[in-house]
Amino acid sequence: MPRDVVATKFWHALPDGRIQCDLCPRYCKLQEGQRGMCFVRARESDAIVLTTYGRSSGFCIDPIEKKPLNHFYPGSSVLSFGTAGCNLACRFCQNWDISKSREFSSLSDRASPDAIARAAKEHGCKSVAFTYNDPVIFIEYAIDVAEACRARGVKTVAVTAGYITAGPREELYRILDAANVDLKAFTERFYEKICAGQIAPVLETLEYIKRETDVWLELTTLLIPGKNDSDTELEEMTQWVVEHLGADVPMHFTAFHPDWKMLHHGPTPPATLTRARSIATGNGVRYAYTGNVHDPSGGSTYCHACGKLVIGRDGYELTEWNLVDHGQCRFCGARVAGVFDPEPGTWGQKRIPVRMADYA
Ligand code: SF4
Repeated sequence: MPRDVVATKFWHALPDGRIQCDLCPRYCKLQEGQRGMCFVRARESDAIVLTTYGRSSGFCIDPIEKKPLNHFYPGSSVLSFGTAGCNLACRFCQNWDISKSREFSSLSDRASPDAIARAAKEHGCKSVAFTYNDPVIFIEYAIDVAEACRARGVKTVAVTAGYITAGPREELYRILDAANVDLKAFTERFYEKICAGQIAPVLETLEYIKRETDVWLELTTLLIPGKNDSDTELEEMTQWVVEHLGADVPMHFTAFHPDWKMLHHGPTPPATLTRARSIATGNGVRYAYTGNVHDPSGGSTYCHACGKLVIGRDGYELTEWNLVDHGQCRFCGARVAGVFDPEPGTWGQKRIPVRMADYA
């Protein structure tokens, strides 16, 4: 086997001779030589293998706010990378060059888990993020990277759609420190028609993370005009979040820009994001944000108890810090939900590529 092809365990043989991948709710049933819908898992020698272990489309140091995570070491830097492929097929994908890649020439960087952890440590990154495409499909690599990071005191973060089955879900979230999960909409129709998926497994993942793990959780919804931005849908979604996940899970409402198979669909007006944010807070969500637009007020954090500004933001730059200790409001003493150092990070909005060959 080439070194980027590794054995996997989330599959079983079917009586008709096919092999079923059990990693995500697509349950691809493969004949010898076939690839799954994610394209990176394939049947080889009567087993399912991952074909992109250790390969990446590139590494960059980003602000953690870009993931977006606003309550996980604000102001810190995160070493970000992705691989290729995806197990959803969202027509609006904003990373389609990576997620829909059908050839791996874009995977020019190779990096061992330990090299990634060392690079993050040497660059002073608080965390490493699996992002750009969904870590579910490269779970074996993601878990090894997370273990190497933990050994060096570096946190790990998943940016994911949460489309994963129960067993692998437990194995992945046992080792992660934070996740931003896309809750793409709150209708079955949207998941079916626009993402070629189902909503139920995503909601199960969210409840699992919140109830069964210590992983810090934030949610992102990309609002697409006319598709998932009605008052009714936003009311139902935010009520569900408060009821099932609690008031402390931050929600990010981000702007759609025409992309991939939705090039002729108009962008999200900023007023839609503000409306979503106000519906969320009206339903009891304590921390709701606008994203992908210039909106310092919608991107800042306010104390849920006294309403005062506790973290000011302009884009990815922190402009004010009114937390003391590890996340206590300076004005009223209430504890703001999240994971905070006593002082904010100072990374700002820089984006710096990292050459992994230097850590080989
Ligand atoms: S992980 Fe890939 S191969 Fe496995 S079920 Fe999902 S899409 Fe299919």
